[in-house]
Amino acid sequence: MEIDSMVANSALIRAREGGGSKGRSWKWKEMLRFPHISQCMDLAMNIERDYYSLCVKQPIGKKLFELFCRSRPELQNYISLLDALEAFDSKSDEQRKEFGVSIIQRFLRSQSIQCVSVVQKHEQSCIQSLELNPFKDVFHDYLHKYLSGETFIQYQESMFFDRFLQWNWFICLQPITKHAFRQYRLLGKGGFGEVWACQVRATGMMYACKKLEKTHVKKRKGEGMALNEKQILEGLDSRFVVNLAYAYETKHALCMVLTMMSGGDLKYHIHNIGSPGLDKERVRFYAAEVCCGLIHLHQKSILYRDLKPENILLDDNGHIRISDLGLAVRLTDGQLVRGRVGTVGYMAPEVIGHKHYGMSADWWGLGCLIYEMTAGQPPLRARGEHPKPSEMERRILTEQEEYGDKFSKQVKDLCSSLLNKDPAQRLGCRGSGGTEVQSHPFFEKVNFRMLEAGLVEPPFKPDPRLVYCSDVQDIEEFSSVKGVTLDQTDSNFYSQFITGSVPITWQNEMIETGCFRELNTFGPEGSRSPDLDW
Ligand code: ADP
Ligand code: MG
Ligand code: MG
Repeated sequence: MEIDSMVANSALIRAREGGGSKGRSWKWKEMLRFPHISQCMDLAMNIERDYYSLCVKQPIGKKLFELFCRSRPELQNYISLLDALEAFDSKSDEQRKEFGVSIIQRFLRSQSIQCVSVVQKHEQSCIQSLELNPFKDVFHDYLHKYLSGETFIQYQESMFFDRFLQWNWFICLQPITKHAFRQYRLLGKGGFGEVWACQVRATGMMYACKKLEKTHVKKRKGEGMALNEKQILEGLDSRFVVNLAYAYETKHALCMVLTMMSGGDLKYHIHNIGSPGLDKERVRFYAAEVCCGLIHLHQKSILYRDLKPENILLDDNGHIRISDLGLAVRLTDGQLVRGRVGTVGYMAPEVIGHKHYGMSADWWGLGCLIYEMTAGQPPLRARGEHPKPSEMERRILTEQEEYGDKFSKQVKDLCSSLLNKDPAQRLGCRGSGGTEVQSHPFFEKVNFRMLEAGLVEPPFKPDPRLVYCSDVQDIEEFSSVKGVTLDQTDSNFYSQFITGSVPITWQNEMIETGCFRELNTFGPEGSRSPDLDW
């Protein structure tokens, strides 16, 4: 390895280790100084007063609403119930029923001093639901129904909501430029530009910055594609899909700042470490997480269309996320699309065959992925063989894939059900969508509730001292385009793209890096601090 590469890698490793408080700029508190509340009037007028969005979905909003409830003596039992429910969520299946019963005894019995009367009215239905299915959580529904009433109104008049507006001021009104970030090494190359490791100066958070060179985008008419990817990403919030944190521009590029995935992609893990392929536990774990990611996308009516090992990335802990949503489309009202889109060798027969198709294309993709993870090579291709695209398409349309002795009966059955050439017969497309796939015997031992809550330990953890990507000098340089001039129409498109911070990701960044905890202080004995004093 060349010296430049080693220097670039060790700088990145150091930044990663110090990620969080050590990586913050010495001016971080100044960068995140709250505006005086009087500067938040416009925000207060325009913010949508929706309980679910403000108090459940937005991470900082949720925390502040909870702090408000804790400050109210009459709400103590609700808070205790909320805490108990948090614990309930993290219980294993075996413990869950018993714990649910203890919740009922503590909070739903009228003789208990902690009785929560509004929920108590629903005691019978809570008990019944727990009997039927201890994985379901009915308590939260009733609790939210209550809290979204008078409590939510009082919250909006409290200093906790004012503080929420101050946090929001950063999200809505602070412009994002390249100066917000420190840049580390090049991670990879995409179709329109490079992807770099970067770190937010104010918080120390590490991200990957995907740059789209403006001249490249224009020359190759990539505006629609770039905007599509950005808009789809900002509407998603799944632990199995990369999150968008910021969208901003520099003089030469449009930038998407994404969840940093330091563990490399699955292509690297399948083909570049040891003998090709992965062991069965890893295949099962990655397949299950990808399956959850696809279900999330499909629930949002998004068809992904580019499933392949290269696009599945690992984080530091060994969890995966789906990335590169450039080919994804939103299908409104269950409509179908047409178009030979995807990567040669991974496209479903109905995609190749110019047919109209829907989510079936992604389940085919999952079949290819599981096949490749198991066999160490994609279906219908011999090791080291690179058939012409037309030949690859012919095989996909007409030939049957083969299963060697690396395939257990269950994996073979799963792959062949997903690689069914008829989309109507394919697993995942027979009426109940992704749950059909989750119910396959291969996943029998997977607890999808725990997996979706991030509570399952990955079978493999990437080495924190390694950089899982090509050496800097081996990543081809990105050529510049000449003879393209940027004009007003381009600026209009850029202004749609550069929307700055994405609220949920930004709020999670503040919480994960500890900035929220350190900055969210009030006056002595719960009084207002000067920045909140009208
Ligand atoms: P394109 O859509 O142009 O193909 P990608 O999104 O696939 O661009 O990114 C190009 C490369 O950059 C990837 O192959 C990968 O090596 C790297 N990369 C992309 N996103 C991330 C990320 N979130 N974390 C780490 N590396 C990434
Ligand atoms: Mg790509
Ligand atoms: Mg792409």
